[in-house]
Amino acid sequence: MTKSLQEILSQDEFSKPDLERMLSADEQERQLIFARAEEIKKNFVGNKVYYRGLIEFSNLCGKDCYYCGIRAGNKSTHRYEVTEAEILEAAKYAYDNKYGSLVIQAGERSDKSFVNRIASLVSQIKEMSNGELGITLSLGEQTEETYKLWYNMGAHRYLLRIEVSNPELYHKYHPGDKKHDYFQRMESLHLLRKIGYQVGTGVMIGLPFQTISDLADDLLFFRNFDIDMVGMGPYIEHENTPMYEFKDQLISKTDRFYLSLKMVAILRIMMKDINIAATTAMQAIDPMGREKAIKVGANIIMPNLTPTKYREDYLLYEDKPCIDENADDCKKCLEARIHMAGGQVGYGEWGDSKHFDKRKGNS
Ligand code: SAH
Ligand code: SF4
Repeated sequence: MTKSLQEILSQDEFSKPDLERMLSADEQERQLIFARAEEIKKNFVGNKVYYRGLIEFSNLCGKDCYYCGIRAGNKSTHRYEVTEAEILEAAKYAYDNKYGSLVIQAGERSDKSFVNRIASLVSQIKEMSNGELGITLSLGEQTEETYKLWYNMGAHRYLLRIEVSNPELYHKYHPGDKKHDYFQRMESLHLLRKIGYQVGTGVMIGLPFQTISDLADDLLFFRNFDIDMVGMGPYIEHENTPMYEFKDQLISKTDRFYLSLKMVAILRIMMKDINIAATTAMQAIDPMGREKAIKVGANIIMPNLTPTKYREDYLLYEDKPCIDENADDCKKCLEARIHMAGGQVGYGEWGDSKHFDKRKGNS
């Protein structure tokens, strides 16, 4: 006999069919999942939402992921790199406004001057903030030496999405060369963990060819890897990318949004004490998208601190929000929205993953 959704939700462990059943829940049923996730979030991570001020450091990228608007092959993008002074200014803003942490994200590069520039920035930010600002990096696949250097300079978290946990699908969305290899990306995740970073990964949701079964596997992948943090959100097409060709095969943006919300809620039920981000791509589809994600399980938000003049060039996908705003605009609107979603901002706190602390035996 097939189990009811209520029965599934009362379990502690989910099988793949259970996950598929939950991911297929309709509009009415999904409220049950959201309510359970809300309850678990309250009991295990509380209602605090932690800020990670996001600096989109540069859109220069040596890779060619088929879905991404800043891929090397997109010749119509104007390329930029934020200056050192501007980064330090944004870091100071984060520090003065008690943001707790920063995320430095960029296209993937591994030349020596880039590696050293990041190392120097990390160390300067640490110094400027008396070691108080936490630093998360999201700079793609690098050598063990580079990851170690950045860690030793003071970065303590790293975000590297697996994008899709199924190697065959991964290869559909990337060129078939050595630079875009699924197993290499997996190796990077292992290296990051070995070095001591809190590791975050994630996937895109609603990609062409991706099925409910694939998404259930993604959730199992997070659990099996025993990940500390997850950032995932809807795939959103970008005109100047090879994947745009499949835009007619996509489910609607609203469906992608609700599927993403279900992924967040189910993951919160499965992995009760990890950090889950309410991602910008959710806000790109629904103006209240991030707040909705917070309500059903997310506890991390990444307010954009990139100097406004660069924002329109960091277009990973179309309709990216807040590109004509500055850090202050974002700050004011965000706090009110978080309160509306029943959250409270964890000002001045790192808000590290409780799961990481537990794995390390720190709590
Ligand atoms: N270059 C680094 C970090 C910047 S890209 C890296 O690739 O890891 C950050 C994330 O943007 C990617 O991991 C991907 O999941 C997301 N992204 C790229 N293109 C996207 C799109 N079209 N829709 C939604 N998310 C996208
Ligand atoms: Fe470059 Fe990251 Fe975009 Fe891939 S997803 S093209 S690595 S910025």
